[in-house]
Amino acid sequence: MGLIVQKFGGTSVATAEKIHKAAQKVVAAQQAGNRVVVVVSAMGHTTDELIELAKKVWGESAGQPPKREMDQLLATGEQVTIALIALALCSAGHEAISFTGGQIGLITDRNFSKARIKELDKERIEKELALGKIVIVAGFQGVTDEGDVTTLGRGGSNASLVALGAALKADVCENYTDVDGIYTADPRIVPDARKIDRISYDEMMELSSVGASVLQTSAVEFAKKYNVPIHVRNSQHDGPGTWIVAETKAMEHIVVSGCALKKDLTRVTLKQVPDRPGIVAGLFGAIGTANVVVDDIIQNDMGDGSANVSFTVEHGDVADLKPVVDGKIKEWGGGKATYETNLGKISVVGVGMKQSTGVAAKMFSALAREKINIQNITTSEIRISCIVAKEDAEKALRAVHAAFELDKASQP
Ligand code: ADP
Ligand code: ASP
Ligand code: MG
Repeated sequence: MGLIVQKFGGTSVATAEKIHKAAQKVVAAQQAGNRVVVVVSAMGHTTDELIELAKKVWGESAGQPPKREMDQLLATGEQVTIALIALALCSAGHEAISFTGGQIGLITDRNFSKARIKELDKERIEKELALGKIVIVAGFQGVTDEGDVTTLGRGGSNASLVALGAALKADVCENYTDVDGIYTADPRIVPDARKIDRISYDEMMELSSVGASVLQTSAVEFAKKYNVPIHVRNSQHDGPGTWIVAETKAMEHIVVSGCALKKDLTRVTLKQVPDRPGIVAGLFGAIGTANVVVDDIIQNDMGDGSANVSFTVEHGDVADLKPVVDGKIKEWGGGKATYETNLGKISVVGVGMKQSTGVAAKMFSALAREKINIQNITTSEIRISCIVAKEDAEKALRAVHAAFELDKASQP
């Protein structure tokens, strides 16, 4: 008997009708002879709506709303869906039981709004599965050791899916969403993007971290660590999707597998930073302690004993970053920070890049042909990224996709 963990994203459970449709997929998996655990997201745009509601109540009060209370609020979205899926299953004569993160002992650290999963108590789940029940778990949430409700970052139901898959040693984690699988680019921006049949964990991690929001980066990282295969599929039909698996030899001949765009970036520029050893170490150390991830770092020596330092962060992290930057400027006794949001970052990703040359030149030429100015370039072993003006970003993504002929690349 197999074990499948299925996750249904917000759009796949947005209405009563869609909840019934998701329930039918769950039943089909059980009737095919599997034990089934289901993870669900909040219905439709519930999480965004709850954030808007919180903003209205918090109003013009100073600073950010307390993260603990935001998590308490946002976790309610998923709690609604678990009960509704259980109702849909029970009404069709199936045995189902729903759990919040806390009820299955899904313990996280205390990093409210971006908590990381530490452990979960699989015994309760296994007991219910052994009784023949379908187990439904609220995605995106956990509790701290003290029992405080936490959330796992936007898209965090992916992390719940993979954590359950790893703990229960599932045969597969099925991620049901509103597209047919992982594409060579976001199909909403690049109409001729092609669905990929198989992609390695490393490539998917890079793609997610540079904008392919279909899967959360840390969830893919976790899947790699525990070697849990993820099958990304469309919740509206039964066709095969994309398998995210360990890298195989055959994957290496594909130089570029996909490209992605990130628009939620803020570039922070610090001027008159004292140019002496330990200054940037202290700055980025403090930013790391505030749990903010930075990228695209550039430092220029201004020749007058000072330096300019710039880097990008996600918009959502600016509120946590600002006090750190302000504190450092005070400590240095000078300096100035500016924040720009009119940026887009285009990236190409592929494991075959390790063995190939000319990828960067091809990308830069594609942007040059469109007269798009490159503001910054960063690379990893399997990725090249360029920062461009936000207004050019979608055009840039289409140009890069076309230059690498991603619409017709061969499959491993
Ligand atoms: P869910 O609610 O199911 O979690 P998301 O909205 O989080 O769905 O993720 C699905 C969306 O991710 C798609 O509708 C698509 O626009 C977007 N996306 C971005 N990049 C890609 C890509 N490379 N392949 C597939 N979808 C992508
Ligand atoms: N509901 C949460 C969000 O919108 C978690 C998720 O959908 O994965 O980010
Ligand atoms: Mg999602």
